[in-house]
Amino acid sequence: MDIELTISPLALEGVPEQRPLVIAGPCSAETEEQVMATATQLANNGIRIFRAGIWKPRTKPGGFEGKGVEALPWMQRVKAETGMLTATEVATPEHVCAALKAGIDILWVGARTSANPFSVQAIADALKGVDVPVLVKNPVNPDIELWTGALMRINAAGVTRIGAIHRGFSSVDQKLYRNPPMWHLPIELKRRFPSLPIITDPSHMGGRRDLIAPLSQQAMDLGMDGLIIESHCNPDCAWSDAKQQVLPEVLDFILDRLVVRDSVEATESISQLRKQIDELDSSLMDLLTKRMRVSREIAAYKKQHNMTVVQTTRYSEILDKRGAQGALCGMNPEFVKKVYEAIHSESVRQQIDVMNK
Ligand code: PEP
Ligand code: MN
Repeated sequence: MDIELTISPLALEGVPEQRPLVIAGPCSAETEEQVMATATQLANNGIRIFRAGIWKPRTKPGGFEGKGVEALPWMQRVKAETGMLTATEVATPEHVCAALKAGIDILWVGARTSANPFSVQAIADALKGVDVPVLVKNPVNPDIELWTGALMRINAAGVTRIGAIHRGFSSVDQKLYRNPPMWHLPIELKRRFPSLPIITDPSHMGGRRDLIAPLSQQAMDLGMDGLIIESHCNPDCAWSDAKQQVLPEVLDFILDRLVVRDSVEATESISQLRKQIDELDSSLMDLLTKRMRVSREIAAYKKQHNMTVVQTTRYSEILDKRGAQGALCGMNPEFVKKVYEAIHSESVRQQIDVMNK
């Protein structure tokens, strides 16, 4: 099947088309007072789209699972009194129906839901014939096909005002981030679908207030289109995700200091430098080709002398020596090791090929 998406501009009423598109609001709608206080402060600071979780998917039972339909009239009040658009997460067809009925302007599919094609399909079926913007969060696991698949399912239901939210990915060995960004994945998504808006969620990525500003800046530097940031009138007392929420005034401070670079066409000097990179890359290719040729010659020798393909001492020696060499050249030794692991694995594949001929 061809991977294609039919994408229309989000065309959000009353929201200027500028980078970054900002969505802000609490992780969860907790009480009418909390929703109204947060929304009013955000609106006073110029925020145009209000987010709040009404149904909360929690990793473990027993946490606050959202107010449910009781909170929908609070969202309506936000819209009526501040003029902001409203956005919430939907995880089932029932959520979709209730949210649409209440006039929620933007829906998003959460990370735990987009990891499940059955759930995404059920949501897509409920969206048939409805013209509402839908944002699809990346699945919890770093699987771009699953993310793409979720976007395709929603799109195939006829929803063309679609976007992606990048909230980072689960990882076993990360300490700094709650969900490491793995920027190469949203960048690949952008390469596949250049007109798909990608909105970065630094709150769920960092899991900590102090990481919101640097992650937002990184998102802008990488050409992402928007930011969805959790903001609460009393963050320390939030019923969910307390550590990552910021006061509306802090959000204002963060957004004020963002440097938003235009992604205009490359200038003449960049084109010159890119030419140099192209030439260097083709020299790298030449060298790799030569290296593989020598490696195949070694394989022929090993075959003649009945030797195994991999001699582990030789392999460790290469990794260590090249890593150290790389460090002397100003590169991260771990990076150099990874490059050599990849080269070695291709080299082994080619040697096995020679051995079995
Ligand atoms: C949220 O936006 O509050 C949320 C639950 O996010 P995620 O689906 O990214 O975990
Ligand atoms: Mn949250």
